[in-house]
Amino acid sequence: MDSMHQEVVVGSSGAMLLGVMGDPIRHSKSPVMHNAALKALGIPGSYVPLHIKPEGLEGAVQAFRSLGFRGANVTIPHKVEVMKYLDMIDEGAAKVGAVNTIVNDNGVLTGFNTDGIGYVRSLKEEACSDLSHKHIVVLGAGGAARGIIHALTHEKPGLISVINRTESKAKKLAEEWCSLADIRGLAETEAKEAVASADVLINTTSVGMHPYIEDIPLPEEWIPEGIVVSDLIYNPLTTKLLQRSEEKGCTVHGGLGMFVNQGAFAFEYWTGQAAPVEIMKQTVLGSF
Ligand code: NAP
Repeated sequence: MDSMHQEVVVGSSGAMLLGVMGDPIRHSKSPVMHNAALKALGIPGSYVPLHIKPEGLEGAVQAFRSLGFRGANVTIPHKVEVMKYLDMIDEGAAKVGAVNTIVNDNGVLTGFNTDGIGYVRSLKEEACSDLSHKHIVVLGAGGAARGIIHALTHEKPGLISVINRTESKAKKLAEEWCSLADIRGLAETEAKEAVASADVLINTTSVGMHPYIEDIPLPEEWIPEGIVVSDLIYNPLTTKLLQRSEEKGCTVHGGLGMFVNQGAFAFEYWTGQAAPVEIMKQTVLGSF
């Protein structure tokens, strides 16, 4: 995938127009993070929240093109639906089946998915630099899980075990990508045994997210001592799962790094410049 686009389109004012489409959108930290990044690099432009209802999505994508927006992020509930309004879909996004980033190259709209690659970059930088031959246990098989599991298959893992409340979703995902890595789909009843041999445990479910911060996605006594435990949730920054894991000597990794790095990849596609990741992270931290 070519991450650095040569030609950068800008709005009629000469400023780079960027935004995020979602419903709801008021809570999004993306505008504050990307505006800080534009400012840090001295790029004239603006990143705006775009509250788009499902019935308005097609029109919003047309307006995005005609107004000369350079790029957008796409969030809940539009990540799948938006694909049919784009001109091209990057191979990784097509496999994952969802788009979170649009790049406008002179009127040609391409959809990417930076969630998974952003997550893996963050996990490797912050918690586990080498994922090869590791047994990775993923709790959950929803949209976020698809993105990160697809990215994890490129890291030569020993085994990926996917455990989901709805077992059929875990099994289907494992079947779909069995040629990419050794993946198995399991029911919650099989979780204890799988977790016992995990090197890396990743929670992709929403269990433990604000306001249910006392919830934990598995009994804490199942967590092996000293492994890597990662949680995609970033509100709260340290979930109960991560607190308990830390007490057991585990290396813990929260969801903020994924959020920042999915944004960093998108920023790099739009601007052709390396994203100021630390400034983006500090800006998001300061906005809570
Ligand atoms: P999703 O598509 O709705 O999937 C939710 C997953 O959680 C499914 O596997 C679901 O299981 C499972 N689940 C939900 N409630 C559960 C419960 N009470 N017990 C057991 N399993 C439960 O959502 P998503 O988009 O993948 O998001 C999942 C989480 O990732 C959210 O907390 C979200 O905030 C976080 N996330 C973080 C970032 C980031 O940048 N850090 C980015 C994206 C998402 P079933 O299939 O059985 O329903």
